[in-house]
Amino acid sequence: MAHYPQETFLNVKLAPGSFLEKKRHTASVASLKQQLGFLKSTGRYEAFKLKWLPVYDEPPAIWPIGSWLFWDSDIGKWLEGACYFLHTDYDAEVDAAVQELTDMLSNAQHDDGYLNLHYSIVEPTSNRFTNIRDFCELYNAGHLLEGALAHEHYYKNDKLLGPMIRYVDLMIKTFGPGEDQLHAYPGHPEIEIALLRLYERTQDKRHFELAKYFITERGNPKGVDGRHYYDWEADKRGDDPNARPYFYPERTPSNWYYSASVPLVEMQSVEGHSVRPMYLLTAVADMVRMDPTSTSDFQKAIVRLWEDMVSTKMYVTGGIGAMPQYEGFGIPYFLPQGTDEGGSYAETCAAIGIMMMVDRVLQYDLDGSFTDIMELAFYNAVLTAISTDGRKYTYINQLASSNANPADRSEWFRCCCCPPNIMRTLAIIGGYFYSQPASTEVGAKHVAVHLYSSSTLEFTASDHPSKLTQTTNWPWGGDIDFKLETSSKAVSVSLRIPQWTSDWSIEPVPPLKEVTKGYITLPAEYLAANPTFTLKIKLDVRMLASHPFVNTDIIAVARGPIIYCVEDFDNPWVDDHFKSLQLDPDARVTERGVKDPSTAEEYVSLDVHRGASLLPIKSLKAEPSIPWRTLTKAAADTQLIEELHLVPYYFRSNRGGKGMARTGIRRWIR
Ligand SMILES: [Zn+2]
Repeated sequence: MAHYPQETFLNVKLAPGSFLEKKRHTASVASLKQQLGFLKSTGRYEAFKLKWLPVYDEPPAIWPIGSWLFWDSDIGKWLEGACYFLHTDYDAEVDAAVQELTDMLSNAQHDDGYLNLHYSIVEPTSNRFTNIRDFCELYNAGHLLEGALAHEHYYKNDKLLGPMIRYVDLMIKTFGPGEDQLHAYPGHPEIEIALLRLYERTQDKRHFELAKYFITERGNPKGVDGRHYYDWEADKRGDDPNARPYFYPERTPSNWYYSASVPLVEMQSVEGHSVRPMYLLTAVADMVRMDPTSTSDFQKAIVRLWEDMVSTKMYVTGGIGAMPQYEGFGIPYFLPQGTDEGGSYAETCAAIGIMMMVDRVLQYDLDGSFTDIMELAFYNAVLTAISTDGRKYTYINQLASSNANPADRSEWFRCCCCPPNIMRTLAIIGGYFYSQPASTEVGAKHVAVHLYSSSTLEFTASDHPSKLTQTTNWPWGGDIDFKLETSSKAVSVSLRIPQWTSDWSIEPVPPLKEVTKGYITLPAEYLAANPTFTLKIKLDVRMLASHPFVNTDIIAVARGPIIYCVEDFDNPWVDDHFKSLQLDPDARVTERGVKDPSTAEEYVSLDVHRGASLLPIKSLKAEPSIPWRTLTKAAADTQLIEELHLVPYYFRSNRGGKGMARTGIRRWIR
């Protein structure tokens, strides 16, 4: 079995009408063409015809980055997602667009293999690779290469992959440890992910070695002439040492913003821009799988940085990145819910990066503590970023709205990394459900089930064509019926038992109920005797608190993998973005199946009965403090909310309203 969801999704048939099949279908019939329309109307689509566009005359929106600098990646991601959908949902217009883009890209390629928009038309090509830190040539190339891999997989020709391999050949000549080479590595990781996937396809060791070079050289304090490469490069460019790019956390150099302050094996915490370390660690995890013997320090770094992130820098939704100023991680336990409370960013691409990274880790370490977070991030921080009709998006996934940043969505963004990213992720979502971990002794006869959703996996168990089908109403129902069809007597199956559940069972009862690192393994003998079995996971309503060091006494409500929020649509009395709302964690909560009439979305809503209230906030004034007894007395004299209605966080901002929403609610002071 291939290792990547970008390929394994074709082995997984999503059951028609199931929750995730509907999400994927919407991305296919709505998002794909809606995004194609914006690629065309914004100039991206024809950009590689290399004609001058008025936008190139505009001053950089976020100095020094011109708004077209990522267009290559927008095209690469769209093209990649389009090729995935063509396998299953053929569309002639999409097919024609992919082929036309392929022709434009290959015609724009330079004789020596170079391919990049900015340095082909806006700046002279001779300036290429002079701002590897900020101008994202290699990030763009990575997305074009991933697009080319998807293109080759669908079209079975090398019209795009051939040119991209020629570009990689140029990179192999340009970057490396040699005296005549640049000791550089991309400011925004991505090419490493693509190169390792390319290596899996070509088995050309040079592709692996280039990715490994970028990863190991990153953050070298003495990379060139005894200096950090980015500092050396900035001086060579003649950068003003006092010039501070818009997105910099502090005056230059801010190499920690790029996850490049020190070599990764020495890094103690995730810092800086939140997408970059996730993409970097995705590649690192893939490298570990491919070459575990020489990469054990990297494997330790993955665990160290992961634990730092999950325990001190992650929102209850699985979102990461508290700092809007630089799209990145804040200090430990700094997790404000809204921008008017100090920050809340949680960019969609960062949450997608979590999914990619966990997928790679699970290939060599079947550990449910990773999978639980992948599921959390997917159902909340990722799914919330696309509207139910697939035509509007969020880039920032704040946990609470404010007047400055109401809960709303946009059809497009000037820097538009997130919409095509979520589209391509939904295209291959089935590929995240299962894996056949290569490292296990039973090898290809062992299937691990990571995510639950009605679907059928087709696989081969020692030459025996086999199928594993799951039927479930997940994430709303916790019963999952499995059916294994195989003539092999040697297939074993591991099932993830989420750490958050209070109870679970399997019928018929297996011989051992031992859970190892979040998975129970059903042995071949059990499955041969019981090809149909049911996993029952209790989906309790859970009241969740922050770590005490976050210093916000709030409660978030969850059920199964879904995090809930309050919206003004269901609670129209709100006028302060639910700031004065308080919630009793012991309140009675009931569940209700809903089919929303305006969106046709089906979900479970939660109702809190006589367990929420409004603090009489106008009677409270800090001068500069409030005596505790005054506060508790005011809290006791609160205005009761008879029924507070909650909806899944991913469903926010779909039904109109005043744009008021909140996830974590102040704990009711008693
Ligand atoms: Zn993004």
